[in-house]
Amino acid sequence: MPRTRLIAANWKMNPPPAGWNEADSPYRPRTGLDVVVFPSFVDLDTCMKAGLTAGAQCGRSEEKGAFTGDVSMRMLKGPGCRYVLCGHSERRKFHRETDGDVAAQAAAAFALGITPVLCIGESAEERESGNAQKKVREQLQNISFPVVIAYEPVWAIGTGKSADPKNAQEMHAFIRSLLASAEGKRTRILYGGSVNEKNAAGFLAEPDIDGFLVGGASLDPAAFRAIVEAAAQRP
Ligand code: PEP
Repeated sequence: MPRTRLIAANWKMNPPPAGWNEADSPYRPRTGLDVVVFPSFVDLDTCMKAGLTAGAQCGRSEEKGAFTGDVSMRMLKGPGCRYVLCGHSERRKFHRETDGDVAAQAAAAFALGITPVLCIGESAEERESGNAQKKVREQLQNISFPVVIAYEPVWAIGTGKSADPKNAQEMHAFIRSLLASAEGKRTRILYGGSVNEKNAAGFLAEPDIDGFLVGGASLDPAAFRAIVEAAAQRP
């Protein structure tokens, strides 16, 4: 059984792109492929009510409490949120989230039936010093339940410098090899980092790349449509 491809749009701290709610919007669910949007918290409910498959960009593991500005996984579950990003590099950088925090978030989401999209990936220094695999191994250490993995080398996010598809494939195969065999076959491993309408097909030709987490290009409906169309083609 081939793994169903997943194309995710991370809108970050931006409003939903023009036309997101049109009948033929590229952000809408389609057959044979999972299309998921990650709007800001204020747009999440509207997107879900409009019929989009939506996820949150982050969530806390604690159910409730004195965490000003935060939202818990339990609160996301209420309105029917299906996915949540855990450990996006911008959360790790700007909110100092550690591997331990991220594992706790993912575990809390999983326990509630929300699919964690676990973001992992090495920095430029870690790649240059030959420590990229060590880094992703560490980031996966406390994850012992099913997740979607997004391999996002930090140096490729928002920089316009995407990974080479062959190098990305090598890392995806390595990540898969770290998972228990049956789980490894099932787990969807997305690539993220400057994916656009021009380079998407090259990544999708690789056997261990099961879709994308798209940032910048997901804000451009035409570019996102082209990425989704590329993923809808299966050889
Ligand atoms: C991201 O933020 O997850 C991302 C991959 O961004 P971009 O596509 O802009 O590199």
